Amino acid sequence: MLSKSHPRYESLVLRDKIVKASKAGYLADSAMIAHGRGEAFDYLLGEKTTLPAKRAMYVTVAIMLLSKNPVISVNGNTVALAIDEIIEFAREIDAKIEINLFYRTDDRVNKIAKLFYDRDYPEILGTNNDEMMHINEIKNPRASASKNGIYSADTVLVPLEDGDRAEILSRSGKNTITIDLNPLSRTSKMSDVSIVDNLVRAIPFMTKIARDLKLQDEELLREIIEEFDNDINLKESLELFKIKEEVK
Ligand code: ATP
Ligand code: MG
Repeated sequence: MLSKSHPRYESLVLRDKIVKASKAGYLADSAMIAHGRGEAFDYLLGEKTTLPAKRAMYVTVAIMLLSKNPVISVNGNTVALAIDEIIEFAREIDAKIEINLFYRTDDRVNKIAKLFYDRDYPEILGTNNDEMMHINEIKNPRASASKNGIYSADTVLVPLEDGDRAEILSRSGKNTITIDLNPLSRTSKMSDVSIVDNLVRAIPFMTKIARDLKLQDEELLREIIEEFDNDINLKESLELFKIKEEVK
């Protein structure tokens, strides 16, 4: 049992979720490494949501609310860490959810799809019954996307995307928004909006933002988007990674 008084409690809870998901068989072998890399970046951020991350989240919600077919892409880690929060956010902004695995196997997809069905979310896309296409006809598994989901989306939100896929999405002309704790990853650099934050904090935060922005005029949403510069924001995110404590 994890003790709540442990100084790394929150982080250990997340690690536990990843371990359980790995045992349940829906994570790729490299998933734990990806999580560990995220942990390290989060540690250096003080495990807090920064101002530039919040700014990027407002822009994300504004874009998604103005989009015709916004889709949230999920992989094993995202599902393991925040499936309920993802469903809540998708419902709030009327977005679709698509399973998109970098190392796709039918078994992993079925296991993840079942987690959505168990939560009364039958509309999950990217399952083995779904019609899959290739973005820009690129015959590469990294370009595969559901016909009614990412393939025809105008905006795609991808927590924890791989750089190659982020590049394919971005080149396809879709608004590509990523959540990645590493501001230096190709994913962060390739995206139109890069949220440098832990997805477990970012997703519920954006649900709250959506409740507010849904009540605002479209004009305001457009202003929020127009004022935003992702390169400047990403630089600001990077500057916040500093070691604040001295070693004795
Ligand atoms: P890229 O392919 O974009 O250059 P990479 O190959 O270095 O990146 P991957 O292993 O493809 O990285 O993906 C893992 C990324 O996900 C890492 O950058 C890591 O910081 C980030 N990450 C891991 N866990 C989380 C999390 N919970 N929230 C946000 N980001 C996370
Ligand atoms: Mg990568």
